[in-house]
Amino acid sequence: MTDAPGGANGAALAEPPGGGGPTEDDWAAAVAAVRSLPAGGRVLLICHVNPDGDALGSMLGFGLGLRRLGVRRLEATFPGPPEVPEPFRALPGLDLLVPATRAVADPDLVLCFDAASESRLGGLVDRLDRAPAIVLDHHASNTRFGGIHLVDPAAAATSVVAERLLARLGVPLDREIAECLYVALATDTGSFRFDMTTPAVHEMAARLLATGIRPGEISRRIFDTRPFGAIRLYGEVLSRATLDPAAAGGRGMVWTYATQDDLARHGQRPYVLEPLIDSVRCAAEADVSCVVKQTGAGEWAVSMRSKGAVDVSRVAVALGGGGHRLAAGFTGRGTAQEVAAAIRDELDAALIDPELPGQPGA
Ligand code: 5GP
Ligand code: MN
Repeated sequence: MTDAPGGANGAALAEPPGGGGPTEDDWAAAVAAVRSLPAGGRVLLICHVNPDGDALGSMLGFGLGLRRLGVRRLEATFPGPPEVPEPFRALPGLDLLVPATRAVADPDLVLCFDAASESRLGGLVDRLDRAPAIVLDHHASNTRFGGIHLVDPAAAATSVVAERLLARLGVPLDREIAECLYVALATDTGSFRFDMTTPAVHEMAARLLATGIRPGEISRRIFDTRPFGAIRLYGEVLSRATLDPAAAGGRGMVWTYATQDDLARHGQRPYVLEPLIDSVRCAAEADVSCVVKQTGAGEWAVSMRSKGAVDVSRVAVALGGGGHRLAAGFTGRGTAQEVAAAIRDELDAALIDPELPGQPGA
């Protein structure tokens, strides 16, 4: 299946295989909702708390696209502190951002990016009831909230869905839109390393690169630049990593934690902890890896990864969160050790049996 012919981005965009994505009716409803915006109508773009590259990139890229369509009253926001992590502070479209506390209360259209459930939207969730709401997402665990669902679990990033909707609206890619969508795509595919990196993903990357964006400079800024204090912090946090070879039916679990005191001692902001999971998951002896990051008194943001033996989204959902089969998270409570024990207790139930039909595919 391909997109409607005549998309402004040239060649028809290939839909990824797998099904379960938006229907033609869903796309038509989303396009109609944007096109029927009254003159001077207010559009609110929202994404999930603690926004990552996909949340911010798909939201801002789409916002810039709406601006090209002539939409003037446009705001983008996310719940929680309005701080944009340093690596994203040069993204195009940042001028669209307003703090959640000042976001328009009665928009005429809402678009929501990369949020699998309403719990990821904090106090912004009330906006979903006040206007037509288009939900762009790619989490299999999406709870189908909001009115118009553009949810494609086969999409590598929410920006894949955003690019398709822009094409259907006739918005051509330009350099600024492309940079946002590229950051989103590169973030969620682990810089094009993960299995969801299909030919269609590289074709999309090719369309984005064709606008003239500089992948080396973007990657250095987003992934490869951190303050020196973060390097010292990584050393400490990695040195306390624990390997539990018996976890997950002998597939093994490796985990570590970082406290708010660790951050304060090294003068660092929470965003610097995000890449730690990529170092921890290198441990060959473990299928499952976790980083438990303190966000408050007895409260932790948990990142989990699997190499394939465990569906960590099942663990996350069981513990109140969500995500994907190989990358998921939740908010943990108690001590870091208690959070790790809670994960361990869920691992056996989340083992993927390769013999069972109907298990999530690779
Ligand atoms: P990360 O570890 O990179 O923060 O998140 C990995 C995946 O898990 C992402 O797809 C993200 O959306 C999901 N995720 C992380 N934390 C949470 C959470 O607290 N709740 C839910 N529902 N999903 C989460
Ligand atoms: Mn995403």
